[in-house]
Amino acid sequence: MAAHAHNPVRLLRALLATIEKDIIPLTAQGVSSGSKVFGAAILSRATLQPLAVATNDERLSPLLHGEINCIQRFFTTLDDASRPSTKDCIFLATHEPCSLCLSGITWAGFDNFHYLFTYEDSRDLFTIPYDIQILEEVFRVPAEGESGEQLARRDLYNRRNAFFASVCLKDLLDDIRDDVQREGWAAEVDRVKRLYVVLSDTYQRNKQMGTRTASFWR
Ligand SMILES: [Zn+2]
Repeated sequence: MAAHAHNPVRLLRALLATIEKDIIPLTAQGVSSGSKVFGAAILSRATLQPLAVATNDERLSPLLHGEINCIQRFFTTLDDASRPSTKDCIFLATHEPCSLCLSGITWAGFDNFHYLFTYEDSRDLFTIPYDIQILEEVFRVPAEGESGEQLARRDLYNRRNAFFASVCLKDLLDDIRDDVQREGWAAEVDRVKRLYVVLSDTYQRNKQMGTRTASFWR
């Protein structure tokens, strides 16, 4: 199943709009009080409208990552009648989900997630290297006889598996056939990514000032 197989433009438009109009304003509030820049939304697959939106709230608890907070909101603020099956939803994370959130998404039954920034972006653009470090240290078990180089080349998780398919927004660009349209949307993805520069600066500045947080890994 490819969530984006039929109309990558329609999906990309909805995901970028959700990030810009729904997630970023919440993120601005979060970083101004010391939380990280990570956010998430759950959209109806049928309407592509966001049903739940949340951002990182690790001032309160180190487990309240944007994705976990969003799943929690999806199940606690929508009643049974207005909450579709997780199989009928599109999961959106601003940043490629960490090991905690990969598990949360899986346990909640979502069969997909889409993300704007990769782990490498989180490490290199946001100075937050823990996603990669935790996956490498906790989950990457060397096979017998495997060299360090072979181990380092292996993916950090199984991007298409029996539970979910993981899709980077730049993968959606590859599905747009028309060259002009694809370039236009690539520029749009870059524009939305740049909106995070100021959010990241605010987070880093607050971190330097020692803003109170429950998170151990800052
Ligand atoms: Zn996470």
